[in-house]
Amino acid sequence: MVIDGTGEGAFEADVAISDGIIRSIGKMKEPGVEEIDARGAIVTPGFVDIHTHYDGQVTWDSRLAPSSLHGVTTVVMGNCGVGFAPVRPAHHDILIELMEGVEDIPGVALHEGLRWEWSSFPEYLDAIERLPHDIDVCAQVPHGALRVFVMGERAARRDAATPEEIARMGQLCAEAMAAGAVGFSSSRTMQHRTSKGEPTPTLTAAEDELRGIAAGLRRAGAGVMEMISDFDDLDGEFGIFCRMVEDAGRPMTISLAQRDSAPDNWKILLDRIERAAARGLPIKGQVADRPIGILVGLSCTLNPFLARPSYRQIARRPLDERVRIMRDPEFKQRLLAERAEGASSTLRYLAKSYHKLFRLGDPPDYEPDPRQSIAAQAERAGRAPDDIAYDILLENDGREILYFPLHNYTEFTLENARAMMAHELTLFGLGDGGAHVGTICDASFTTYALTHWGRDRQKGRFPLPWLVKRQTRDNAVAVGLLDRGLLRPGMKADLNVIDFARLRLRRPFIVHDLPAGGKRLMQTAEGYVATVVDGEVVYREGVATGALPGKLVRGPQKPHVT
Ligand SMILES: [Zn+2]
Repeated sequence: MVIDGTGEGAFEADVAISDGIIRSIGKMKEPGVEEIDARGAIVTPGFVDIHTHYDGQVTWDSRLAPSSLHGVTTVVMGNCGVGFAPVRPAHHDILIELMEGVEDIPGVALHEGLRWEWSSFPEYLDAIERLPHDIDVCAQVPHGALRVFVMGERAARRDAATPEEIARMGQLCAEAMAAGAVGFSSSRTMQHRTSKGEPTPTLTAAEDELRGIAAGLRRAGAGVMEMISDFDDLDGEFGIFCRMVEDAGRPMTISLAQRDSAPDNWKILLDRIERAAARGLPIKGQVADRPIGILVGLSCTLNPFLARPSYRQIARRPLDERVRIMRDPEFKQRLLAERAEGASSTLRYLAKSYHKLFRLGDPPDYEPDPRQSIAAQAERAGRAPDDIAYDILLENDGREILYFPLHNYTEFTLENARAMMAHELTLFGLGDGGAHVGTICDASFTTYALTHWGRDRQKGRFPLPWLVKRQTRDNAVAVGLLDRGLLRPGMKADLNVIDFARLRLRRPFIVHDLPAGGKRLMQTAEGYVATVVDGEVVYREGVATGALPGKLVRGPQKPHVT
């Protein structure tokens, strides 16, 4: 059953591909040289994920997993203002600290993995192109790197840019677009910090700087903009973004999620986006299809016991050893009686949030019932919440994970996320593939859209063809990739064959395959019969075939003329 990315209903057909291009869709009389039996399955365009952070991984790893294990055939990286080009040798460490802090990618892995065979952004693009990949990659210019490149240490100190520096940033941005960058991104959130705890260089970049860069995009006549902000001064900040879009004449996306601290801001922001659209400004919200959630576990970056002295003593030991020690009732009693010492603010927040902490399970439950929270369980059992959490984390030989839905779950339902997803001025995104490797594993948003919103949710499901369109054609068009996201003759042969009845997510787990043995969360799915890139099968039933047809995509693309 072909679900072609237009949003129209499924239809039964053969899909004929040659030389990486879809040639015809219908009833084929001739057999193919190679055939995939898709009877009983759905066939969709490959998914386009517009929000990832593979900027480091793409330079050392041919596989852009987890995304490529979830039907994604094109990723856009360089989001949230962080990345590794342009760069001067003296500033390598600044960019690593920025990426480590903002996106939780271990600095040691970055130090070991990054070969820095580039200085300019065009040179970075060339370096990506030299390594074959499983799926296609698009790069954006990150404001953090751009600012440090032009302003040096003054950028990190968040000094104001001079008119000359602003002009230089605009010029470099235009040159990057000419070389094939697909956009520019910046961060204006206090949630983003370097590994030293400093705000990002771009946090307080002034309006004239942002508009100077936007003017660079106008001269290039290409590129999208991606922005993330706390919107503490919502209208002031949104006003700047509107003027950037006016100056650039280019579209912008803004991160949009419900935060507990300002639970109605997303509605106000959507209203402002609607008003901007009425004035002809192409601004859209980037939204998540589930909570943006922190994974808590004995092998994750966070667990509730990190700051207890007894845990500290065993923290560096291998998982199986820690599990053995923690199973000792005396050890448990001692640890639970201790107070946390020198806990980070996140850890303190976690310790106060047992009402919002849940067993994730397998298959994982990303819309958990509040009655199943650790606090609710503890109350029913007459036990302390940390006692319950302790036992759960020891299940499955210490591999069980607790789920802390940070955003989009203020009211313990995904109804707000649903409203954001359904809004015509939003795009599916925010999965952060490649980032937050010890705390978040949301690159599987694409699979979740189909399983939860297309099949499993009790109420408020969306039509499957619409869910497919959102993650294929809509996102492809948003970044100017008109050659993909549809199953049509002349389009790029990027597609998924999915056994929809069998499609399901598995519980995330830790692998130690980052450079320098660094660990990261990985998540797989069952039911992807085949993922095809450029007409070649890259994954069959989630297993890599060895084919690496993925390429660096340089700038906007047009369909092949057949
Ligand atoms: Zn991001």
